Amino acid sequence: MTKQNISRCSFCGRPKSETELLIEGQDAYICNFCIDQAHQIVESEIGSKTSGSNVSNIEFNYKPSDIKNFLDQYVIGQDNAKKSLSVAVYNHYKRLNQKPSKSKSKNDDVEIEKSNIIMVGQTGTGKTLLAKTIARLLNVPFTIVDATVLTEAGYVGEDVESLLSRLLQACDFDVALAERGIVFIDEIDKIARKGDNPSITRDVSGEGVQQGLLKILEGSIVNVPPNGGRKHPEQKMISVNTKDILFICGGAFDGIEKKIAHRLNTEVVGFNSIRETGAVDRDNLLQYITPTDLKSFGLIPEIIGRLPILTFLDPLDRTALRNILTEPKNAIIRQYKKLFKMDNVDLEFEDGVLEYIVDKAVEFKLGARGLRSICEAVMLDVMYDLPSQNVDSYTVTLDYAKEKIEKAEFLRHAQA
Ligand code: ADP
Repeated sequence: MTKQNISRCSFCGRPKSETELLIEGQDAYICNFCIDQAHQIVESEIGSKTSGSNVSNIEFNYKPSDIKNFLDQYVIGQDNAKKSLSVAVYNHYKRLNQKPSKSKSKNDDVEIEKSNIIMVGQTGTGKTLLAKTIARLLNVPFTIVDATVLTEAGYVGEDVESLLSRLLQACDFDVALAERGIVFIDEIDKIARKGDNPSITRDVSGEGVQQGLLKILEGSIVNVPPNGGRKHPEQKMISVNTKDILFICGGAFDGIEKKIAHRLNTEVVGFNSIRETGAVDRDNLLQYITPTDLKSFGLIPEIIGRLPILTFLDPLDRTALRNILTEPKNAIIRQYKKLFKMDNVDLEFEDGVLEYIVDKAVEFKLGARGLRSICEAVMLDVMYDLPSQNVDSYTVTLDYAKEKIEKAEFLRHAQA
């Protein structure tokens, strides 16, 4: 082989045509893939020798109550989930910072275990919002991935490992940083086994993905395709150790209330305070959720075991929806007011308008997500017309809001 006709990487043997870049040295070539790999080796070797000098103690000066106070500014209600998240994130940092000082001395053999979380709550009650809000506080890489795109290796969809690709992308492929990051896996319920008995039907979409996910949750070295998607043989993989990555999972688990109710009705033993007081709140059964219910829903016990913190979100009632409109720091109504203020217009709402918007969200079962679309239906024409009129204030009246909402296309098609 002569240099003139086929230039190949001297490390992996790839011909130039299969590389993005082939650099020539003295009687040798190196391709971009091997440069990347060599770079990773250098980083991990030097990183381990200097004992995490660059990513060791991560400063995090918030106590759990500070984290919760921060969440309170953006998310209405959901105290239970907020507390669990705050504690888990706080402990995550403690756990990260215990590592470098681990001197294997006698007093130092207690290792804090990872506390991955699972949040169960109806759709649109704030699970993703909580995760996104907490991410604003963090100085570790954070990413949100959707479990619905994951499939078992060999099937259409993304390999489970690809959820770590996002985390790598979030920190510019700094592996050491990614290995301390946080991943929010949304819609975890969508990979539940469909039947309660695994031997009756082979369910490729559910259980296989759960097995794949288990490996990642447990803490192992995982080969990650840098760009996500499916693995293919030519693609260069990046090794990521998931031992210190915190996983927060969220899911609606539609129908799990029935399983909870069933369990509550059949539980006959134990010091169950609910049974003792007889006060079961039928409108919010999720508050009684236990790992057993997740198992009945179709999560495999091993996965449940790796998600030791189980928390729930409350359904949003009328008061919560009303508060969502105006209370959070970036509440929808505040946003409209700000938009108008930029045109020097003071925007006001007549008494009853916001309550009417909430009524419609409840009537059409649109929840918090629907609030935005309903507000848009009310505000569109005003936002269109007002900038070309010379006014310095505008009040949305109840009659006007009713008229706009009654005409709104999407509500006509929504099921009341
Ligand atoms: P999910 O539980 O399905 O992940 P999201 O967090 O995506 O729900 O909520 C959808 C939208 O509804 C949010 O972007 C936010 O505007 C609003 N919302 C839902 N729950 C709350 C809440 N508890 N507090 C404030 N806003 C909320």
